[in-house]
Amino acid sequence: MTSKNPGSGHAPASGSPAPPAGTRGDPRHVVILGSGCAGLTAAVYAARGNLHPLLVNGHESGGQLSLTTEVENFPGFPTGIMGPELIEHMRKQAARFGTEYMAGSATAADLSARPFRLTVDGKHEVHTRTLIIASGASARMLGIESEKRLLGRGLSTCATCDGFFFRGHEIAVVGGGDSAMEEATFLTKFATKVTVVHRREELRASKIMQDRARGNPKIEFIFDSTVDEVIGTKEGGITSLKLRNLKTDAITDFATRGLFVAIGHTPNTQAYAGQLELDTRGYICLKHPHSTATNIEGVFACGDAVDHVYRQAVTAAGTGCMAALDCEKWLTHERITERWDLPEGEEERE
Ligand SMILES: Cc1cc2nc3c(=O)[nH]c(=O)nc-3n(C[C@H](O)[C@H](O)[C@H](O)COP(=O)(O)OP(=O)(O)OC[C@H]3O[C@@H](n4cnc5c(N)ncnc54)[C@H](O)[C@@H]3O)c2cc1C
Repeated sequence: MTSKNPGSGHAPASGSPAPPAGTRGDPRHVVILGSGCAGLTAAVYAARGNLHPLLVNGHESGGQLSLTTEVENFPGFPTGIMGPELIEHMRKQAARFGTEYMAGSATAADLSARPFRLTVDGKHEVHTRTLIIASGASARMLGIESEKRLLGRGLSTCATCDGFFFRGHEIAVVGGGDSAMEEATFLTKFATKVTVVHRREELRASKIMQDRARGNPKIEFIFDSTVDEVIGTKEGGITSLKLRNLKTDAITDFATRGLFVAIGHTPNTQAYAGQLELDTRGYICLKHPHSTATNIEGVFACGDAVDHVYRQAVTAAGTGCMAALDCEKWLTHERITERWDLPEGEEERE
């Protein structure tokens, strides 16, 4: 169930060491949900703050960056770094200061009283005084086998992240909403031509976004069509798409070097619905713009689960740091009023 081995995240065989504190009824100071850049950065700060965090990995260990190849815009890596390698560095860094890792996802959360009670994978109960939610958001996908295989290999869900790799190429964007128009317009900075593929006759995007895209000479549109298959290999990237015209059922080959899927994101916040304040799209609402506190005392949120604007590794990491600092400050205040045991070493730091 737990692992101190950074990067493992898998349940050890039975007979392995006892489960961590927090799963036996004694509450943890802090539990972090999610092992993407937000959760791991929160873990580095919480662990260095002597809070002995328990980090619940989630079923996508390492988060979205573990799905991609090269990351060229995370500061500190002048020649770029592979996404999974960057995540591995963060895991090791957090483990070095005492973060414990637990496999699984929070499937239920009772946030009505403290300590909070979390259920992991429907069976393990974890108690905690504070909670940092860093469960991210998942890009909506087309649901075809080839897109999973080629994600990060020519197929992307983030123009800001990957547009640069398509300098001088013709590429396609799937979607008809505001984010598709925004991605397509942004991508014309790099690509020689951007073709927007949309399944309806009309775009869903606001008029201003449509006008901007339609007025861009590098953007073309294919309507009433879906992507049936993405053709390419992990090694060589994408070479073409099989497009199906939904009115005629005709299938055509469309040559392209890249495909951006821009049909929206779903925040991974279902486990807290009805307790935490969420916006209409399911993102967690924060109490103040310069804080990670939520409507529930002792619950903090960071990363893409909160942010539908920037969605970058460095911004997720930045808010992960904020969440750990907010949490530490909150615990310090609470322990003075409720007289808990101090985390080891805290006395000297005051
Ligand atoms: C293909 C791709 C390429 C990208 N490239 C770049 C790039 O080059 N540069 C850049 O800055 N950004 C890039 N991004 C965006 C970047 O990856 C995200 O902004 C960042 O990962 C968000 O971090 P996060 O920790 O908030 O969420 P995520 O990375 O989404 O991590 C969320 C974590 O929470 C876990 N989780 C979910 N639900 C639960 C639950 N109930 N209980 C416990 N855990 C849970 C998940 O399993 C996951 O581990 C890319 C994204 C993708 C998809």
